[in-house]
Amino acid sequence: MAKANANQSIKCSVDQCEYHCQNQQYCSLDSIKVGTHEQYPTQKPCTDCESFELKSELKNSPQYAQSAQSQSSQY
Ligand code: SF4
Repeated sequence: MAKANANQSIKCSVDQCEYHCQNQQYCSLDSIKVGTHEQYPTQKPCTDCESFELKSELKNSPQYAQSAQSQSSQY
């Protein structure tokens, strides 16, 4: 489902996220939480958008289900 309320203070290109504005490169949330999965983060890849939710229409996709399983087993 396309989100109409783009928050132009939060640019985002993760269009697999439930909160992404599909036709624009913005998040639709009022605010997000950014965190880290590292004990001592030193680079951009160490950071995560903790507000990310996989789009509901992708949850049953074999490609994404497999990826989500392998990600969760790493932590
Ligand atoms: S919640 Fe995070 S990943 Fe999802 S659209 Fe917003 S900024 Fe992007």
